[in-house]
Amino acid sequence: MKLNMAAILMASVALTACAKEEITPVDTNKVVKSEAEWQEQLDEMQYYVTRKKGTERAYTGKYWDHKELGIYSCVCCGTDLFLSDTKFDSGCGWPSYFKPVNDEVITEHRDTSAGMVRTEVVCTKCDAHLGHVFPDGPPPTGLRYCINSASITFRKTDAPSEAAAKE
Ligand SMILES: [Zn+2]
Repeated sequence: MKLNMAAILMASVALTACAKEEITPVDTNKVVKSEAEWQEQLDEMQYYVTRKKGTERAYTGKYWDHKELGIYSCVCCGTDLFLSDTKFDSGCGWPSYFKPVNDEVITEHRDTSAGMVRTEVVCTKCDAHLGHVFPDGPPPTGLRYCINSASITFRKTDAPSEAAAKE
């Protein structure tokens, strides 16, 4: 009888171990830093835009007219946000994309500041303010993600793709 119990115990331990491996861990780890830490990591404009919801002046950022092949990622936490082949010339003076790398990387908030109703977009991982999304973009989405250059960094890749993007 003792032996049987041991066998049952061992079997259940093995089952538990097995089940654990099958579960894909959901990454809910947010990047959270203090104001002082962000200030140290970012330059003045990057801090103002991403942590204080500021906006750089049109045609002053480094990416509004940037056309190289590659991936744009969050300046605060490094999450890849946009691919160069979704960037288009919107004529508005800020880098504009018709969609993010995927649905998870960006979170939308209703923004009623400045006497307007707009949809703010932030980095899901670290809550960095990126810009706004407007319903006047080109096909296939009809959306225009109007993003501050100060909130993103660029890296060149020969074949930017969703698969090449990293969290
Ligand atoms: Zn981020």
